[in-house]
Amino acid sequence: MNETMGEETMEKKWTRIYETDEIRVFWDAEACTHASECWKANIKVFDPRRKPWVDLTGAPAKEIARVIDLCPSGALAYEWKS
Ligand code: SF4
Repeated sequence: MNETMGEETMEKKWTRIYETDEIRVFWDAEACTHASECWKANIKVFDPRRKPWVDLTGAPAKEIARVIDLCPSGALAYEWKS
């Protein structure tokens, strides 16, 4: 898993970018309202007590995308790589 800081993607500054061969996941720390939907839905992937808090090996990419779609603030986003 790669982690990138402060990279500009999709015309927005993301705090972190995580990726596998299949999916690229973006997180905006400022937009995150800590509403907890993501870790309630999948604590293996999204665990705020862990560093880095996102672990894309914790679930299949489709499940990760499903959880990201639950994020109410837009702090999480993803794109498919292929
Ligand atoms: S669901 Fe979105 S807003 Fe809520 S904690 Fe996760 S990233 Fe932050």
